[in-house]
Amino acid sequence: MTSGPIDRAITHLADALRRTMGTAAVHEGQALAPYTTFRIGGPADLLAVAHHQETLCRAVTLAWEHDVPCLVLGRGSNVLVSDDGIRGLVVINQSNGITFSENRVNVESGELLSALAHQCVARGLAGLEWAAGIPGTVGGAVVGNAGAWGGTIAQVLNRARVMQQDGTIALWSVEQFNYQTRSSTLKQRPANQSIFPIKTGQQRHEIVLEAEFTLYQDNRARLEQIVRENMARRRANQPGGAGCGSVFKNPPGDYAGRLIETVGLKGYRCGGAEISPLHANFIINTGNATAREVKTLIDTAYQAVLDRFGVALELEIELIGDW
Ligand SMILES: Cc1cc2nc3c(=O)[nH]c(=O)nc-3n(C[C@H](O)[C@H](O)[C@H](O)COP(=O)(O)OP(=O)(O)OC[C@H]3O[C@@H](n4cnc5c(N)ncnc54)[C@H](O)[C@@H]3O)c2cc1C
Repeated sequence: MTSGPIDRAITHLADALRRTMGTAAVHEGQALAPYTTFRIGGPADLLAVAHHQETLCRAVTLAWEHDVPCLVLGRGSNVLVSDDGIRGLVVINQSNGITFSENRVNVESGELLSALAHQCVARGLAGLEWAAGIPGTVGGAVVGNAGAWGGTIAQVLNRARVMQQDGTIALWSVEQFNYQTRSSTLKQRPANQSIFPIKTGQQRHEIVLEAEFTLYQDNRARLEQIVRENMARRRANQPGGAGCGSVFKNPPGDYAGRLIETVGLKGYRCGGAEISPLHANFIINTGNATAREVKTLIDTAYQAVLDRFGVALELEIELIGDW
């Protein structure tokens, strides 16, 4: 990393963050690996953990005021962070809290999606059963239109509180997210344009602060049974261990896993990274994989499927940082 104006800005930002959030919440040069489900990733210049919506907003605003690139992460379960890490500030969003009001539920964006799903089911509220077992936050799910077993965020989101790039906070209707398969206006923000690689942390991006979902009453025992079945399907078909879920989106009318398996890459390894022998659209960090090794597997699978089937697979995960 080079020194220069950004390093001076980072030093000033670090001081300002410590005054606002306390010294324990702000770290310099902290590896991001422990903050991702892949357990991979180099350091961020600065890392701050926000436990409340107000602190989240304040940390991001301070970064913007100091002209330091800033990226908000939830549980880091849909990203591959480069070995070189990320310039600027990374804010880990751990704001949480759920408020029920009849068929509506308001959730802070750092709440775990899976925990939300379980609480809804326990109240006989239907609409999020598919989300049990997804390890990310509500914020990450709203950005990426998370989904499983036919259910998606787009089907249940009513509106969300968003901090916009000019620092104002607005209520975004579900239409404003322009949802597509595992994508939204926010996931397609300018910093994320190219697939190889998608670079984030480079400029301002909108922050999801809170989401409101509209659900409906159903039989609690029936919903619990659906969750049990979904979780059992997950355990049977998806590998455990350190990973980030599906690496590629399924192309129209087909499955990325089927295509990668057909080109013979199930179980293929690069260093500590492995294309799962159980499901070819999953890459697992078997212990000490680097981001570069995972990226090599991604490129290998992409090229092999393109050569054999003429299908250009699209990444579902985001590659973050310097590549
Ligand atoms: C074992 C496993 C199984 C999975 N199964 C599924 C599945 O069935 N379906 C599915 O859709 N996904 C699945 N995933 C992927 C992942 O859990 C989801 O995409 C999840 O919604 C990501 O949330 P996150 O908090 O981890 O986001 P992160 O990975 O932390 O961030 C993802 C992106 O969202 C942005 N972001 C995060 N929070 C905010 C915020 N508050 N405001 C603005 N931007 C934000 C980040 O900047 C980044 O660009 C799985 C992952 C794993 C590891």
